[in-house]
Amino acid sequence: YLTFDDGPGAYTRQLLDILKKHDVKATFFVKNNPNYLHLLDDIVNEGHSIAIHTSSHDYEKIYSSEDAFFKDLNEMGDIIYEKTGVRTTLIRFPGGSSNTVSRWYSYGIMTRLTQRMDELGYRYFDWNVDSGDAAGCLDAERIYRNVIAGVRGKEQAVVLLHDVYPCSVQAVERILVWGKNNGYSFRALTVHSGQFHHTVQN
Ligand code: ZN
Repeated sequence: YLTFDDGPGAYTRQLLDILKKHDVKATFFVKNNPNYLHLLDDIVNEGHSIAIHTSSHDYEKIYSSEDAFFKDLNEMGDIIYEKTGVRTTLIRFPGGSSNTVSRWYSYGIMTRLTQRMDELGYRYFDWNVDSGDAAGCLDAERIYRNVIAGVRGKEQAVVLLHDVYPCSVQAVERILVWGKNNGYSFRALTVHSGQFHHTVQN
């Protein structure tokens, strides 16, 4: 499961074309990037899963309280619905459920948020393979190597990537070719997929 966080952005259309060329479906955890919201519809129309990564992705704001988190989350859910007609229940926390930043704004908030996800009908996804691109643009070769080293030997892999960096998007085609040559298939996350939860660290 290739997953792309923090878009849509300047490289998302290029990424969608690569995925289309290889007939691969992926998952996009999107936030409110006003200049690129027209791409939400492309993501859905081309068969990918769309999921909420909050609207602002501003740690200080979203992790200040549960109410603040859900307000921001629902704002993005509404934008996705307006643009695509899809009401998604799939989410990923900024920083993942194991982030160690939220404690500075509200101690213990990840425990409280993760416990409420089920009751509110959301499913949150972490990852078990990190491409290492969160800090910005590494070279595509390094991202490719990180991903294949992480995927190798796993029955199922949820791979964290960010489609807001050109290097990450450049690495995707090689990842797809390697995967297909090594017996993997690529799928989009759904409500029925494993969620690969991390251990909360707050
Ligand atoms: Zn993010």
